[in-house]
Amino acid sequence: MEKNYRAELTGVFGDPVEGNPTGVMEEAAYEALGLNFRYITMKVTPDGFPDAMKAVRAIHMKGVNLTMPHKIKVLPYLDELSPAAKIIGAVNTVVVREDGTLFGENTDGKGFVEALLRCGESPEGKNIVILGAGGAARAIAVECALAGARKITVVNRTAQRARELADLIRSETACEAVAAGWEAGQGIPQDTDILINATSIGLGEDRANRPDIDYDTIRPGMTVSDVVFNPSNTLFLQAAAERGAKTVNGLGMLACQGARNFTLWTGRDAPLSVMIDKLKEEFGEGQDTSL
Ligand code: NDP
Repeated sequence: MEKNYRAELTGVFGDPVEGNPTGVMEEAAYEALGLNFRYITMKVTPDGFPDAMKAVRAIHMKGVNLTMPHKIKVLPYLDELSPAAKIIGAVNTVVVREDGTLFGENTDGKGFVEALLRCGESPEGKNIVILGAGGAARAIAVECALAGARKITVVNRTAQRARELADLIRSETACEAVAAGWEAGQGIPQDTDILINATSIGLGEDRANRPDIDYDTIRPGMTVSDVVFNPSNTLFLQAAAERGAKTVNGLGMLACQGARNFTLWTGRDAPLSVMIDKLKEEFGEGQDTSL
């Protein structure tokens, strides 16, 4: 049989993109299954984005992830959106179908819900408080609502963005949603089942910080989750664990959304444990990584 030297191409477009760890995780998964796929981390500025989207078809990529600042700008280039991506209004994963059409999905929120389920928690019937109203919060809120959450409270520094997200949830899903501004040292309502930090507080260089809430209002029985994955055991999660809450870190969400991308592009079940181990190698450093 003639040898095939051509690899199937996937990757990510973003700017900045240097610190994006998805590539190491996807490539570890491709290797584990012996697939001739590559994942390239590519710097694409807004000016270059139209050409980059043309290249997706021209070089016959299998698909591409989008990160800042392209998740919304990509919408006009797509032929079809998943129902959740349509509501969220942003796409992080594009799949090039056999006929060359482009399908857009948002796997961030689905990855979050899946990571929760893997840790024995479900959004169904639960009261959820989300800190933040940016892209990650939006994807998480929509997927939790679609997964049957009872009520979502959005707490955000910029109150207008919190109101917009709560309005979106109420108008597009059956879930109750309210918005709140963020007062320093604010307490968490005592009927909260799941508390999520979906802000970038605590990320990277900001690791000595944590969201300004009254941590003594966190009680055993609550599940507390952070989207920040670097570091994985954030001060936010440490404070919640000290109060007896169950914690779910951001690596689970990252791995689970990566596993969904993998399946969308390859049609194969993802080797999730390989992907989690790779992320632990990158960020875990012996910390509790929840998964
Ligand atoms: P956005 O820029 O869209 O949103 C940032 C959010 O954080 C906003 O709600 C913003 O509030 C809030 N915020 C930032 N700084 C502060 C502060 N000092 N005090 C209070 N609120 C603050 O970012 P994303 O939603 O895309 O990303 C958020 C985080 O999610 C990042 O850490 C990112 O790495 C992580 N993430 C993790 C994923 C995973 O798989 N684990 C996947 C995707 C993202 P305001 O509206 O007032 O500006």
